[in-house]
Amino acid sequence: MKSFQQLGLDAQLLQAITDMGFETPSEVQQKAIPILLEEETDIVALAQTGTGKTAAFGFPLIQKIDVNSRKTQGLILSPTRELCLQITNELKNYSKYFKGLNTVAIYGGASITEQANQIKKGAQIVVATPGRMQDMVNRGLVDISNIDYCVLDEADEMLNMGFFEDITAILSHTPKEKNTWLFSATMPKEVATIAKKFMRTPVEITVGTKNTGTSNVSHEYYVVGGRDRYAALKRLADANPDIFSVIFCRTKRDTQKVAEQLIEDGYNAAALHGDLSQNQRDLVMKSFRSRQIQMLVATDVAARGIDVDDITHVINYQLPDEIETYTHRSGRTGRAGKSGVSMVIVTKSEVRKIKGIERIIGQDFERKDIPDGMEICE
Ligand code: ADP
Ligand code: MG
Repeated sequence: MKSFQQLGLDAQLLQAITDMGFETPSEVQQKAIPILLEEETDIVALAQTGTGKTAAFGFPLIQKIDVNSRKTQGLILSPTRELCLQITNELKNYSKYFKGLNTVAIYGGASITEQANQIKKGAQIVVATPGRMQDMVNRGLVDISNIDYCVLDEADEMLNMGFFEDITAILSHTPKEKNTWLFSATMPKEVATIAKKFMRTPVEITVGTKNTGTSNVSHEYYVVGGRDRYAALKRLADANPDIFSVIFCRTKRDTQKVAEQLIEDGYNAAALHGDLSQNQRDLVMKSFRSRQIQMLVATDVAARGIDVDDITHVINYQLPDEIETYTHRSGRTGRAGKSGVSMVIVTKSEVRKIKGIERIIGQDFERKDIPDGMEICE
């Protein structure tokens, strides 16, 4: 086992590490830090949650920044605003003895003007959520055309949340000759796809067993007559009184209709779709987060990036048009090691689509009957 000193870190970092009370590097830090310090390379690093991945990329990144230049040199993409703020705070702690090093957080739900002003003052490191980052790049409020390092943190979670397109768009604004560092707890297919598409023969390091990452969500489907979808949804909700759920519909119109019906029938429900103002959406998300709302009925677009923990059920009121979208939906539950259920309501003619989804997710569905409602099952 190597000490932090032996990993080749600067004195300023070693002092900050001592201040934080870290005694020995964790395994992922042992493996990643020397490689990232010594080599200009892409890396894929897989290690479970809580193993110290932030410092594994944070220490080498800080050491490689040129503090004499104000330009943005490092970009870290992270799935949620909470993580974005957490990483920013950690990086500020790590770099407190580096004079002139600025780290700025960019995330949704806060003033974009203020964030743009902070960038203007010079931020060598930007930590961002994909949605807001994409927005700021498009408006020319941040320049990432000269970055040297791009970190994709919690890559599995970002892809689960439906950020593939945002990530792709953001990366298209970065230079080819940069190093990409991908950190993830699990290695599902989509992470492998990203690695293949955007990285050049990355060094791969793994701590523990390589987890493909779908295992804590179970998948169920219910076959009902086309007119019984709503009745089935109600039965599923009644059978799970503690349900805390996102219900996906295909269109804004259906989303609004189902939410209104649920409210009329006495459920704690609300709609989330693109016809609502940003204010209304924020309000809905706030009520959902605080659990005043138990059933959030949403379109795929509006639900992109929902970062609420402890969602017990994802209900596919209708299947998405694209099979891949199913992964994003079901990924809203079973987060942070918790278990979750993804339910699909289908008609007889849609059952064949289940097979295709099973192939994509690499997991089998269980066919179940609507509780106490045999008469509406086909
Ligand atoms: P991950 O991203 O792998 O889930 P984090 O980077 O968030 O993990 O680290 C988890 C916790 O462990 C944090 O509170 C962090 O401060 C702490 N930590 C990280 N590295 C060390 C270390 N070498 N010694 C002690 N604590 C550490
Ligand atoms: Mg992390």
